[in-house]
Amino acid sequence: MPSDAAPVVYLRKRRAQPFLNRHPWVFAGAIQRIDGEPADGDEVIVRSDDGHFVALGLFNAQSNIRVRLYSWHEDQPIDESLLRQRIDDAVTLRDGLFDTEQNSACRLIFSEADGLSGLTVDRYSDWLLVQLTSLALATRSDLLFDLLEERCQPRGIWLRTEKGIRKLEGLEQSDGLIRGEEPPRPLHMRENGLMFLVDVAEGQKTGSYLDQRDNRRAAAAYVRGGQVLDLFCYAGGFGITAAKLGNAQSVVCVDSSEPALETARQNAAENGVGDRVEFVRSDVFRFLEAAVENDQQFDTVILDPPKLARHQKGVDSALRGYRSLNELAAQVVRPGGTLVTCSCSGQVGRAEFQAVLARVSTTLDRPIQILEVRGHAPDHPVSPNCPENEYLKCLICRIV
Ligand code: SAH
Repeated sequence: MPSDAAPVVYLRKRRAQPFLNRHPWVFAGAIQRIDGEPADGDEVIVRSDDGHFVALGLFNAQSNIRVRLYSWHEDQPIDESLLRQRIDDAVTLRDGLFDTEQNSACRLIFSEADGLSGLTVDRYSDWLLVQLTSLALATRSDLLFDLLEERCQPRGIWLRTEKGIRKLEGLEQSDGLIRGEEPPRPLHMRENGLMFLVDVAEGQKTGSYLDQRDNRRAAAAYVRGGQVLDLFCYAGGFGITAAKLGNAQSVVCVDSSEPALETARQNAAENGVGDRVEFVRSDVFRFLEAAVENDQQFDTVILDPPKLARHQKGVDSALRGYRSLNELAAQVVRPGGTLVTCSCSGQVGRAEFQAVLARVSTTLDRPIQILEVRGHAPDHPVSPNCPENEYLKCLICRIV
């Protein structure tokens, strides 16, 4: 139970409903006044304007998310036992999801979806990659690392920081080893039974895009020995899986990053498909314009661009980007072929993304049939109380 002296954050009139519905982010604009002087990271009691208990949270004056909520029970403070329970629940879910012979990496803790707003942990075999995206939880980082060690017994814990977090949260941290041994570089990871090299220290995200694991396998099921184009391939996840599990006759992988392509080449060799996979360093727009010009066609085209919208303001321009990319990509899909199109912009909704395909279909005068509507893999669960943490859309489409 938080002490009577715990600071109290009073919400504005009629602003309590989202938090009673367990949305965990209290923005500054929802707050009427604060009784007491909480320091950044302190536990606070959140009450409605008329004094009713709403939740317990952690305060940060430096963030627009002024309070992050973790407990909706007045008698359950945000203490070691709550954090231990949340971590245990999160790890238990993942322990039951995978055959570790096939998949040795997963997202172990996914922030709001695991009741731990501001903590993301990826497991790569025996190493944990931790991202702290809230100052409030970062003030408890030693405890969190202790609890992760207690539950997972990793060989090492490595901290990765996200760009922009200092500005958003006032949180200063630097990447590096926190506990145990340094991870090997590269580290070997199994995914869908294939082997991939990951550089957890320098690679994009925490080294790999684990959220697409199941979509790579799903996409491969449509390949059936055909010709594949993997656009924005990064380390070759989709293309190499298509070669190995979909028995692709040939795969062209395109990315603008040479370090990514270098890893991708090694990954192709590692899985014995180096002779069927070709790598092209190019801007995807330029590549597609040339491919359309030269009437190149593929049976399966995978389109997995980086995040195109970072803020609500950027949504219109992102939608234009998705439209031109999908329009170009659809033109190089053979009649009756497959387009696997993805968007990882959380700000772009599913309906809006689907509407992009409707426009593409009309413009090209080719029917599009959505065969599978997919999202992130289940180790990236979605909290219905915090829909903002759903971001990945992956549509597997047939283009007539
Ligand atoms: N499909 C990948 C993840 C893609 S991440 C996977 O399954 O793992 C996005 C990738 O797009 C990054 O590798 C980045 O280097 C690349 N990229 C970003 N802008 C690009 C552009 N204009 N043309 C080509 N590649 C680009």
